[in-house]
Amino acid sequence: MKTVNKSYIGIDLFRIVAAILIIVIHTSPLSTYSEWGDFILTRVIARIAVPFFFMTSGFFLISRYQYNTKKLRIFVKKTMLIYGIAIILYIPINIYNHYFQMENLLPNFIKDIVFDGTLYHLWYLPAAIIGGVITWYLVRKLGYYKAFVVAATLYFIGLFGDSYYGLIKNNSILNGFYILLFQISDYTRNGVFFAPVFFLLGGWTADCQSCLGQTTARIMFVLMMLFMLAEGIILHQFHLQRHDSMYFFLVPSMYFLFHILLHFRGERHNWMRNLSLLIYIIHPMIIVIIRFTAKTLHVQILLVENSIVHFGAVVVMSVLFSMAAVMLWSKITGKKKKQGTEIDRAYIEINLDNLTHNVKVLSKAMPPKCELMAVVKAQAYGHGLYEIATHLDKIGIRAFAVATIDEGIALRKYGIQGEILILGYTPPEQARVIQKYNLTQTLIDYDYAYRLNAQKCKVKTNIKLDTGMHRLGFDVWTDKHLEKEMQNVFSVFSMKYLKINGIYTHLCVADSLAQKDILFTRQQIAIFYKVINRLKKQGVPIPKIHIQSSYGLLNYPELKCNYVRAGISLYGVLSTSNAQTKLQLDLKPVLALKAKIVLIRKVQEGDSVGYGRIFVADKDCCIAILSIGYADGFPRMLSGKEQYVLINGQLAPIIARICMDQLAIDITKLSSICVGMTATLIGRENDKEITAPTVAENAESITNELLSRIGTRVRVKEIKS
Ligand SMILES: *Cc1c(COP(=O)(O)O)cnc(C)c1O
Repeated sequence: MKTVNKSYIGIDLFRIVAAILIIVIHTSPLSTYSEWGDFILTRVIARIAVPFFFMTSGFFLISRYQYNTKKLRIFVKKTMLIYGIAIILYIPINIYNHYFQMENLLPNFIKDIVFDGTLYHLWYLPAAIIGGVITWYLVRKLGYYKAFVVAATLYFIGLFGDSYYGLIKNNSILNGFYILLFQISDYTRNGVFFAPVFFLLGGWTADCQSCLGQTTARIMFVLMMLFMLAEGIILHQFHLQRHDSMYFFLVPSMYFLFHILLHFRGERHNWMRNLSLLIYIIHPMIIVIIRFTAKTLHVQILLVENSIVHFGAVVVMSVLFSMAAVMLWSKITGKKKKQGTEIDRAYIEINLDNLTHNVKVLSKAMPPKCELMAVVKAQAYGHGLYEIATHLDKIGIRAFAVATIDEGIALRKYGIQGEILILGYTPPEQARVIQKYNLTQTLIDYDYAYRLNAQKCKVKTNIKLDTGMHRLGFDVWTDKHLEKEMQNVFSVFSMKYLKINGIYTHLCVADSLAQKDILFTRQQIAIFYKVINRLKKQGVPIPKIHIQSSYGLLNYPELKCNYVRAGISLYGVLSTSNAQTKLQLDLKPVLALKAKIVLIRKVQEGDSVGYGRIFVADKDCCIAILSIGYADGFPRMLSGKEQYVLINGQLAPIIARICMDQLAIDITKLSSICVGMTATLIGRENDKEITAPTVAENAESITNELLSRIGTRVRVKEIKS
C-alpha cells in the first residue's frame, strides 16, 4: 500500500507560517504601537522560525541509520545552488547599498559568504550547510547522546555571544575570546554555534518519534514558550542582549513544537516547500521595492509608516509573487510529474466513518471493562496500516495487535502510543529492538521465554497458552503435560527480564455453532481458566487476560476478559457470507476495491479473449479492459467463475482469464459506458453490492485471505460517507 507516501502536512504547513514569521522579524509589524509588543513578537516569538527550518532539514537529513553520504551531498549541493542564485539575485541591492565599495572587500566578502550572508537574511543558507555537515558527522561518529552534548555545548557557547553577552562582557578573557570570534563571524547565530543542536533534534525525532504523547507535547510547548518569553523579557530589561536570536528555552520549545507538527499527516504538497523557500528568499527584495515605490509615489504614509500596513503589504506581495512563480514552475515541469502518479489505476476506498461505526458497535457488544484490541496485521487486513491505525488511534483505541516486529515498529513510526502486541515469533536476539519501540512480545513456549530472558534486556510480554489449537503457546492442553507446563508458566513469572502484562489463548472453532465445535471451544475456555485459577491460588498477580477474536466475541459474548482481539469484524465483514453467529451486529464494510476502464473494444462472434483462449464469443459483443489483475490481489481463481463487477450501478461479468495486471469484462448489455469510468470489484453502487465474503467464496477462500492479499500497487483513498 502507498501508506509510506503520507507526508508530514503539519510540517509543510508550518513552513509557510515560519516564512511569514521571518517577514515579521524584518518588518516589525507592531513597532508603531508598542515597543514591548514589538520586542515580544519579533525578538522572541518569531525566533522559532529559523530553528524550525533547521529542524526540518535535520528531520529529513540526519539519521543514525544513514551510512552513506549521498543524502548529505544532495542537501549541500541543493542549498549551495539556492545560495548562489540568491547571491546573484541580490547583487543589484548590494550595489545600491555600496556593498562593493567597502574597505577590505575581499576578506569581508569571504566572511560574508561563509557566515554572515551577503545580504542580511542570507546568513541562513551557509548556516544550514555548515550546521548540516557538522551534525551529520557528529551523529555518525558519536551517536545521538554524545553528539547532543557537543551540539548543546556549542549552542551554550553561542548564547554568550548573543542574548547573554551582557553577562560575560566585563570578563576580559571571555570577552577577548568572543571579540576574536566576531572578527570571523558577526554573530554566534551561525552554522557552528546555532544550527547543529536543531539539526540534531530534527534527526533524533525522525529516528524515534514514539517517545512523546500529543497532550504532553502541547502542554510542554506552551510552557517552554512562556519560559522563553520570561527569559527574553528579563534579558531585554537588563540590557544583556548583544543580539536576540538565541535563547536557552528556544531549544526545548522547538523540540515540543516539532512533535506537535509531526502528528498531522496527509497528502504530500511539494509546492508548500517551494512556496516557503521563495517567500524566504524574495521578501527583502519586496521590502525594498515597496519602500522605493512608496518613496517615488509619495505614499510612504500609506505603505511604510504604519508598521502593520507595511507588514501586510510585504506579506501579500511576497506570497502572491511566490505563488505565481511556483505555479509557473509547476507548469513548466508539470508534465514530467504526472507520468509518475497513476492514482486511479486500481485503488481501494477506505470509509473511516464505517470503521468508527464498527468500533462503537463492537465495543457495545463487549462486557463493561473489556477493551478492544485492534488487530492490524498484514497492512490492517489489506486496508492500509497507516490509514487504519492512525484513525483508530484518533478515536481512542489504545491496544493494537500485529503479526511481526516490523509491523509494530511501523505503528510506532506512525505515532501510535498504546500497547502493541506482537502475536507471532520474533527472534530473541531482537529483544533490544522490542524494548526500544516499547512493543509487547508473545511468549510462544517455555523455551522461547527462557531464550528471551537470557538476552538480559527488560521486555514486555504476554504468555500464550495452547488450549487446543496446537499452533503457538505453552502446552496446557493435555492433562499429562499440564503439571510440568504449569511449573514452566510459574517460573516465567519469576524471570528477571520479562515483564508479563498479559496472558491469552486463541480459539480455533469459535466461528462454528455445530454442537461438537461448541463443546471443543468450551473445553478450550475451561482449560484457560483452569490455568488462571492455578496461578491465582499460588498468589501470582493475574495480568490482563484475553481469549476472543472476532468470532469469539460474536459467539461467546458472555466471557469477561480484559481485551477482545478483533480483526475481521473491525473491517465490517465476516469471513464467510453465510456466517451464523449468536450475536448479529450491524457492521459496515470499510473497504471498496475499484479499477479503471482503460479500453473498450468490439469482439466478433468466434473471437477468443485472453490467455488460454478459454473465452470465445458466441455472438458479437463489446468488452472493456480493467486495469487490475491478480498481482493486485484479485484472485486468478475467479476466471470463468461468473464473477461480476459494478459500473454505473450495473452488473458486468468478468470474462476470460484474469491476467497479472488486467482483466476483461463483458459490457454488451450495459448502457452508456466509456473509457475512464470506474468499476467496483468489491463494494456498493446505488442499491447493488458485491460483498467481500461472496467474492472470497467464489475464489474458494475466506474474506480474510482475499483482503489481506490486496497488492502493494493498489492505492489507498480515504473517503467520508
Ligand atoms: C489474527 C488473529 C486475531 C484476529 O482474528 P479475527 O478473526 O480476524 O478477528 C486474533 N488473535 C490472534 C492470535 C490472531 O492471530
